Amino acid sequence: MSYDSTTIAQRLDLIRQHIPAHVQLIAVSKQVSVPRIQAAYEAGIRDFAENRLQEAIPKQEQLKDLKDICWHFIGHLQTNKAKKAIEHFDWIHSVDSLKIAQRLNRLAAESSLSPQVCLQVKILPDPNKYGWQDQELLADLSKLEECEALKIKGLMTILPLGLSSKQSLLAFEKTHDLARRITKQSTLNLNQLSMGMSGDYPLAIQAGATMVRLGRVIFGERDSRC
Ligand SMILES: *Cc1c(COP(=O)(O)O)cnc(C)c1O
Repeated sequence: MSYDSTTIAQRLDLIRQHIPAHVQLIAVSKQVSVPRIQAAYEAGIRDFAENRLQEAIPKQEQLKDLKDICWHFIGHLQTNKAKKAIEHFDWIHSVDSLKIAQRLNRLAAESSLSPQVCLQVKILPDPNKYGWQDQELLADLSKLEECEALKIKGLMTILPLGLSSKQSLLAFEKTHDLARRITKQSTLNLNQLSMGMSGDYPLAIQAGATMVRLGRVIFGERDSRC
């Protein structure tokens, strides 16, 4: 075992002590090389997330012998790339507009591919993020209910930078409340909450996250050029 794969395994041991069994740990492998992804796989990780198709697809090709990997897409998706996304990913966490939801729904209806998805919400205003604000999402609910080929499972959120712990916890709780409210007042069942990254995942778990997306705490800092 190389030094690096030992480190990844040791980091995972520590992280797992903070993650209850009902919370799924997703390793964010964007900008992480194939050997390091393999090291995480050997340490027991089966869920990996990528945010760019052009980076992910060649890596998936190199890892295709590891058949039980579940691939999660977490980046902004353009409509012209939707087909590629559902061909290559089991989950799409970053469905961030009605337009992309409807496109994915149409593709899923026409094929046997039907990814599980989360709706990305901007729970606090953030000009740098995609996603629905809560009122916008509530307004689009009836159109989302019509996307019957799409397996809409939950909400995903990314918090703006620079929040205090208290503000982060409140924002995660607000996301949880929104999911509960939508489940109550629509035909959607939003039981999944994809929230929490390296800097804030304990707070996300405290607020009810069911999936945490961790990159740097597992793999170390990414290349700053990317
Ligand atoms: C990069 C990324 C993560 C992981 O971030 P870390 O800070 O490395 O844990 C999680 N979610 C999304 C959507 C990302 O783009």
